[in-house]
Amino acid sequence: MPKPLIVITGASSGIGAATARLFSAQGHPLLLLARRLERMEELGLPDALCRKVDITDRPAVEAAVREAEERYGPVDLLVNNAGAMLLGRIADQPVDEWERMLDINVKGLLYATRAVLPAMVDRGAGTIVNIGSVAGRKTFPNHAAYVGTKFAVHSMSENLREEVAATGVRVVTVAPGAVETELLSHTSDERIKSDYQEWKESAGGALDPDEVAAAIAYAYGRPRHVTVREIVLAATGQES
Ligand code: NDP
Repeated sequence: MPKPLIVITGASSGIGAATARLFSAQGHPLLLLARRLERMEELGLPDALCRKVDITDRPAVEAAVREAEERYGPVDLLVNNAGAMLLGRIADQPVDEWERMLDINVKGLLYATRAVLPAMVDRGAGTIVNIGSVAGRKTFPNHAAYVGTKFAVHSMSENLREEVAATGVRVVTVAPGAVETELLSHTSDERIKSDYQEWKESAGGALDPDEVAAAIAYAYGRPRHVTVREIVLAATGQES
């Protein structure tokens, strides 16, 4: 029996790339979305349709999902993983950094969800995993705008779970603490970046992205009548 299609947003690095490798090894066909096409193609995964799509471009997200479904059948799992973390203070952070985080982390997640959800509801089956954060549950220094987007992910995810629970569609929130990825590299304030790096090291290092991928696969792998509503995981040494 062929395995069903899985869509992973932000699959060009970090958690998304690790998740793509894991589900590919389990035999799933994949639709991988991100702006850096070559990084997704370099993963060299079989039956993986890689599309250069900015998650903030709703028609492009829709078109990629339709193309993948024509090739591989209905989407059974969407991993809403694409995200940006641009740390800063509200008093002086460039305003366009707020806009980018809101567009990618909040609106992008909604766009990808809309591209798959109506068909899942019609079929009475499907799973959506939203990547939140420990910063979607509590605050951290210099995180205000990012925390706003991740609190939004957590609240939208739980509310969507309630909305579709009776249809058989599952909605899962996976909330990691610090993970060793490229996420921090996009922060423009060098001092904030080095302080964060120090904080990570003082906690004994961050999670490996494969650990987060394993948590996503655990939730997806439960029987269809079981929804793991939320998984929070962080390095043991991470206190906050
Ligand atoms: P990375 O920076 O390694 O990965 C981010 C991914 O998102 C990349 O594949 C990037 O691809 C993609 N992305 C960013 N902007 C866009 C866009 N406009 N359109 C499409 N894709 C986009 O970081 P992580 O793997 O750490 O991040 C993945 C998720 O995990 C994020 O949602 C993040 O908030 C969350 N998270 C991460 C933690 C950490 O400590 N690393 C902790 C908690 C949560 P490209 O640039 O090619 O478009």
